[in-house]
Amino acid sequence: MDESTLLPPDPLSDELDAFIADRHLPDRGRELDREPSFPRTEFEAMGSGGWLGLTVPGKLGGRALPLPRAGALLYRLAYRSGTAFAKLSLQPEFSSVLRDVGSAAQVEEWFRPLVQGERLVGNQITEASAGSDVMALRLQARRDRSGYLLTGEKTEVAFSEDADAAIVYGRVTGAAGGAADGVTAFLVSQKSPGLRRTRVGTDLGERWQRRGTVTYRDVRVPLDARLGEEGEGFEYVRPELTRERTLLAMIYLGVARASWAETVRHVGERVAFGKHLANNEAVAFPLVEDGAHLDAAGLFVQRTLERLEAEEEVDADAALSKWMGTEVALTVLDHAIQFHGGRGYSNTLPHEQRWRDVRSGMIAHGSSEIMHLLAARRLWPKGPTASRGSQEKEGR
Ligand SMILES: Cc1cc2nc3c(=O)[nH]c(=O)nc-3n(C[C@H](O)[C@H](O)[C@H](O)COP(=O)(O)OP(=O)(O)OC[C@H]3O[C@@H](n4cnc5c(N)ncnc54)[C@H](O)[C@@H]3O)c2cc1C
Repeated sequence: MDESTLLPPDPLSDELDAFIADRHLPDRGRELDREPSFPRTEFEAMGSGGWLGLTVPGKLGGRALPLPRAGALLYRLAYRSGTAFAKLSLQPEFSSVLRDVGSAAQVEEWFRPLVQGERLVGNQITEASAGSDVMALRLQARRDRSGYLLTGEKTEVAFSEDADAAIVYGRVTGAAGGAADGVTAFLVSQKSPGLRRTRVGTDLGERWQRRGTVTYRDVRVPLDARLGEEGEGFEYVRPELTRERTLLAMIYLGVARASWAETVRHVGERVAFGKHLANNEAVAFPLVEDGAHLDAAGLFVQRTLERLEAEEEVDADAALSKWMGTEVALTVLDHAIQFHGGRGYSNTLPHEQRWRDVRSGMIAHGSSEIMHLLAARRLWPKGPTASRGSQEKEGR
């Protein structure tokens, strides 16, 4: 099979391939699974090589690529080296609230160094009683004359011990707080006094993210640690979620395409019962379907990226992109494990790790069920009890 037909071409493809090979990223990705740690050296190299923040404006040190091109490059990176470095490349995207509404000083101190691979900025939204139901979050930001005191606990967060700073979402209380009920974003150094970080358990996949809990007990932050206005946190993060969900889908499809190609090759060579595995319809047909599903999902996600680039409203399609990208990829990876037999199930081949890594896509950045809820809103914008037909009549 000609690999060039599997990978979307881009003027930066050769440069990216050379970077992946020089830095041994496929091997490093597997090593990070066996011995989880934050890949600081590769993070710095990605920063100086221009592979962090593909869509970030040039004046902030990024490549300023349009979203469809960034998606194609992330797909390529994931195809060649798994999810780890492609996700790392998205780290500035995950911090776009800082870029978009941070002050000039915050951007200089944290966002630019993030794009350069010098400082890691995490995201802290989830709490023990507020995951999917994010509006239930309770971390308190008590305002006084000189700033805010943060008290509460963030759970499940990536880079619990490794982030240099984090974008933390909390509720403002206190006399001066204008939007007591609204959620506000803060940029908080993770070395602040009163802050405690604890790694929790070992994850199924993406272990290098070393997730855990961060506890805030009267952590004092200055007024200018606030990102944008009080009460606007969710408004700021919404466009970020839409972009990142769509780009993540390209990563899952890229890594699954690699396993698909390897499996197609394998079943064309492996002989059992005197014939190649590919001669069995039970083996060949799922791989035929997987190839078509990968193509179809890829086209859908690319179209969503093009519409996003054109500044159309695509929240529902972004949600469907992440759901579909994850779902298709997991099926493809499951077949890759199955058709490689006993070795497919072991870590001597990459498929089981890829499956474990991609499995996070059903939970992180909004679960698959929540993606369905977002997409359902488009079908029933006035609520699920009204039929689409009757709504259209009402609309007229
Ligand atoms: C790899 C990984 C990285 C993460 N990184 C971060 C991070 O950096 N920062 C951060 O803040 N968080 C992070 N998270 C946390 C993640 O955002 C939450 O786990 C996720 O939002 C789900 O919340 P929850 O765990 O509380 O599950 P719950 O909200 O308790 O959901 C449990 C299940 O119930 C389903 N469910 C909930 N409500 C409904 C409903 N109304 N209808 C149907 N089904 C429903 C969910 O889909 C899910 O399947 C990460 C998670 C993972 C797995």
